[in-house]
Amino acid sequence: MSSEITSISDKENYFLVGPGPANCSPRVLTALSSYPILPPGYQIFKVISEVKQLLKYAFQTQNDATLAIQNSGTGGLEAAIINTVDPKEVIIVAVNGYWGERVAEIGRLREITVIEIVPKKPGVFTFEELEEAIKKHKPVLLFITHGESSTGLLQPLKGLGNICHKYNCLLAIDAVVTLGGCPLFVDDWSIDIAVSAPQKAARGLPGLSYLTFSPKAVKRIRAIKTKPPFYYNILKLCDVWKCFDQHSPYYYTFNSNLLYAAREGLLELLEETLSVSCDKHKKLAKRLWSGLEKLGFEFIVKKPEDRLWTVTPVYLPPNISWAKINEYLTTKYQLFVGCGLGSYENKIIRIGIMGYNARDELVQRVLDKLQEALLYCQK
Ligand code: PMP
Repeated sequence: MSSEITSISDKENYFLVGPGPANCSPRVLTALSSYPILPPGYQIFKVISEVKQLLKYAFQTQNDATLAIQNSGTGGLEAAIINTVDPKEVIIVAVNGYWGERVAEIGRLREITVIEIVPKKPGVFTFEELEEAIKKHKPVLLFITHGESSTGLLQPLKGLGNICHKYNCLLAIDAVVTLGGCPLFVDDWSIDIAVSAPQKAARGLPGLSYLTFSPKAVKRIRAIKTKPPFYYNILKLCDVWKCFDQHSPYYYTFNSNLLYAAREGLLELLEETLSVSCDKHKKLAKRLWSGLEKLGFEFIVKKPEDRLWTVTPVYLPPNISWAKINEYLTTKYQLFVGCGLGSYENKIIRIGIMGYNARDELVQRVLDKLQEALLYCQK
């Protein structure tokens, strides 16, 4: 049997500038390369407790039920839905791209009654149309994607939680590409459930998802009749994460290396502060957008104020495939941009400037090399 393992020999010149994972800092990589630690015991509870505190800061919440679970962002979305909604109950999923569609599918697989809505006009949802849908369908939960990395939309959320609560409906959001890169205030905005992941603007690595549940959401978790599958039981995990009075020493073996790396990434965010990090992402996004415009790219999201700051999708010029651009950029420069998903497959490329990669010189590098790639592809 022959096998080829591609090793990354030049870590300094390897750039993940797609929709994520993004590069992480040498400090985070060092934290990753420690020995695993024994599941029950002082060391693991210390790192768990620190990650929990740092997540509370990142999400801007006092929620006791704030924790990481061991699977990528998608697993966090699934855990959020199946721990709070019973089969046959009604939820609304506000779909503005691939990730909303995914959550609708997660709900249907659980035999939840999923009402999918799309915005009346291309762009973000208005609160009026969301309220109209809530009044009509009386859902137990509204799910909406904060940063739709498939289309590049940044959905405003401030005030939406209060609208949901008027109708006894929980607000759940996907913050996978916004945590640490775009303003998000879970408590002030009355968000009940937020799901994120480390590998984007939160500066960690894939393999975990970050979750926070408001007291209202926790009440629902305790009340649902259909219990989640064994591995997805948020209450069991909350006991390990000492979210409430109960404390269990063991549920499953956490990859402690990932927890250490997550802690380091979140610490970097704390040290920089959320507001500085978000301002920086916005400034760099604007620089990227102006450069892309000059290169002749067209945006899916026409209004700059509706655009996501961390991931920018743009249409491919006619007769140029993502595969060709990607091959040029990766083989020549180890620069990895993302492809389109779902209905945007082969139509767009997605550029992510986030987390450790949120740096001026990287924006310039992406623009320069893209220009070169376009010339090469047009030959
Ligand atoms: N939601 C959004 C907005 C995402 O960008 C992604 C990942 N690209 C996910 C969910 C899923 O995360 P994961 O790939 O870690 O499962």
